[in-house]
Parts: sequence; C-alpha cells; structure tokens
Amino acid sequence: MVQAYSIGKPGAKWELPERQLWLEKQAVKRSYQEEVVSKVQKLAEDFEVLQYGALSYDKERYPLLALKTHGFGKTGKPTVLITGGVHGYETSGVQGALRFLESRAKDYAEDFDILVAPCVSPWGYETINRWNPNAVDPNRSFKKDTDSEEAAAIMKLVSSLESPVVMHLDLHETTDTDESEFRPALAARDGVEYVPDVVPDGFYTVGDTENPQDDFQAAIIDSVRKVTHIAPPDGKGLIIGEPISQEGVINYPLKSLGLCSSMTDAKFVSTTEVYPDSPKVTDAVCNEAQVAAVTGALDFVKKSL
Ligand SMILES: [Zn+2]
Repeated sequence: MVQAYSIGKPGAKWELPERQLWLEKQAVKRSYQEEVVSKVQKLAEDFEVLQYGALSYDKERYPLLALKTHGFGKTGKPTVLITGGVHGYETSGVQGALRFLESRAKDYAEDFDILVAPCVSPWGYETINRWNPNAVDPNRSFKKDTDSEEAAAIMKLVSSLESPVVMHLDLHETTDTDESEFRPALAARDGVEYVPDVVPDGFYTVGDTENPQDDFQAAIIDSVRKVTHIAPPDGKGLIIGEPISQEGVINYPLKSLGLCSSMTDAKFVSTTEVYPDSPKVTDAVCNEAQVAAVTGALDFVKKSL
C-alpha cells in the first residue's frame, strides 16, 4: 500500500490552495550566491559573463547567469550549449557545469564557441526542488507560451544566438528522492495514482526518439564509464520505464515532452543523468562524471564535423 502524498486528495488535481500549501512547506537549504554566483564571478577572468534575466520571485537573489568563451558568435567556430540546474536539486548538473568551465572549457575553446548556463533554476537550487515555486516542472515547460519563467528566460537567450547550436548537453541527475518525494508529489499534483519505479543505479543518457544519434550517446557513455558506473537496465530491460537503445541510453520524444534538450535544433543533443546516491560515488565523482560527459560529447562532435 502506497501512502497518499501529504497534500491534496487522492484522484483530485491540485488547485491554487494545494499549490500554495506545497510552497509554504519549501525552505531555503543552501545558498545560490555562495555556491553558484561567487563561482561564476571567479570565472569572469576567463569567460564573458552575461546576465540573461532574473527570477521574478526575488530578482536580486536570483540573477540568471551564463558564461561564454571570448569572441563568442564572431569566431566562425561551431556553437555548443551546456545547461545545468534546469532541475535545481540535481546538484552535479550545476556544479559539474561549473567544474567543466574551471577545468576543461579552455581546452575546447580552440574548436568551439561555448555557452554555459550552469543553473537555469536557482530557486530550485536553493530549496532543493524539482519544481519552481508554482509547482511547475521547468523541464516539461520548454514550449511556446511556457508557464515556467526559468524555461522562458533561457529559451529567449538561445533564440537570440546568431549562429545555430550544433550540440546541446543538458546536465541532470536521477536521485533516490525522485521516488521518495518528487514522483509521489507529481502524481498528487496531477490527481493520478503514484506507481513506484526503481531508481537506476548508475549513469545514463536520454537521447531524442526523433534523432537518437546512437554513436554520439555511446561516446558520452564511454567517456563517463572511466569516472563512474553505467546504469544497468531493470529486470524488464528498462531504465525509468523506457527500453534501453544501447547500454546506458534511453530515448524520449524530447519536443513533445517539452524537455530542455529540445530547445535548439542541434544535431547532437543529450540529457545526462548522474546517480549521486550510490555508495560508490562522492560529490566530486558526480561532478567529474558530468565533465566527462561534456568532454566525451565535444570530442565526438569535433571528429564528426
Ligand atoms: Zn532532472
């Protein structure tokens, strides 16, 4: 017997009062300023920092920041995009993007114009949440007339780019709290029954059903396996309910789901999913797994262009 979620009535969708009740239960648990903004400021010596907006919940507290390599848009090099923290609670998505900038991005600036938005959902980062304060999942909101201001801001930035994006990597995690909190909350919000699933033990990627780019996904997996273990499928050959297309890879129809990785028309797209709750990993390993995903992807794209 699965326990009912603490907010709402089983079978009934949340209305405004339930959403407000949910919001009242959320609290700041860590500092965007200390853990993200200050690191971005340090990177300003080596990259151009741009502010592409601010979240209306608290504009001072939540500036939306991105970094680009020098000469971005004027070099004629192919443009690549890396996003992190679309789900703010997925820490290595944010810290891995910053770690890539600190440790490896300069090596790739010879070949690419690189744009990194390390923390798309800073309120979610601070409150360790999947949703924004309106109980909206930014990573189902990359659509026209979106009701996620996090998604709207980064889509506006990307649509302002003059050259096409050839590769977009969106950095995520799959965590034990997906089953203990976020999927039950989602089911409650939408008035449907929560059906438990198993959390995959290891790294995997999500490609696009319409444009799977199997060799590109494989290059990411091969790079990451040097850092952390790759998720095996469950007993039915599935990862989070989807059949694997190869080791550690599933595909989703990205555009119809409104996922962040659908926001460009890039030929090469992937969503990384690091598993931080394994006893075999540390926070540093998770961040390095994200870096390995980015470098594996860039090495592949460099060879194939
Ligand atoms: Zn995520």
